[in-house]
Order: sequence, then C-alpha cells, then structure tokens
Amino acid sequence: MIRKGMKLYSILFGACPKCHQESMYVEKNPYKLSSTIKINDNCSHCGTKYRMEPSFFYGSMYVSYGLGVAFAVTTFVICYDIFELSPMSSFIAIIITLIVLFPVMMRLSRNIWINLFMKYDKSLAQKSKAK
Ligand SMILES: [Zn+2]
Repeated sequence: MIRKGMKLYSILFGACPKCHQESMYVEKNPYKLSSTIKINDNCSHCGTKYRMEPSFFYGSMYVSYGLGVAFAVTTFVICYDIFELSPMSSFIAIIITLIVLFPVMMRLSRNIWINLFMKYDKSLAQKSKAK
C-alpha cells in the first residue's frame, strides 16, 4: 500500500514532498497540456517553496531521460518478448507509448527530482490539522 509519508506517495501523486498534504501542481490532470508542468510556488499547507532556485527543475531533464529509456525498454520487452510482435511493430509501440505517456513522465521526473532534495516531515504534515 502506498500511504502518505512514503516517498513513493509524493512521487506518484505529485504531492508536496515535505508534508504530502497538497498537490504541487496547479492542475490535477497531467493531460491538460497547457498546465502539465505548472507548479505552485509554495505549498498551501506547509509553505514549502518548491523551486529552491530558479532553474531548479532543469535537472529533472536527466531524470526524464532515464524514465524515457526505462519506459521504452519495458514497452519493447512487453511487445517483442511477450506479445511476439515484429521488431518494427515493437518500435512503433515504443513511440506511441512515449508520446501517450509523455505528460506523465514529465511530472514523474519532476516528482522524483524534487524528492531527491526534500524529505517528508511529519511535523509539517500535522501542522495542517491545526488550520
Ligand atoms: Zn507541504
């Protein structure tokens, strides 16, 4: 089970990496492409500033590259080894998968990136109850 307080929770749901009480994103749905990567400035619960420096999220590009490779390899293994599609069909499947999942990967890579630098803090999470 994935619960608040686990790093995976923040990574999968894009929750504030420190309190897990709020989404970092302005728009919940990553497929609204105009706001896929729009992130709030601060967490409305604990006040954490998400961009520690102006170009903070540029580093997440390295993560998204790694994620892209991981997704491509996974897709290839599923198509080629499990469904026994031809290499060409498997290749096309990879491209479709990467395009379809692109918004999700953009967010995942940012979530992973920020979670490398910030940690869940129980006291910040409980703060919200006082509100
Ligand atoms: Zn927070």
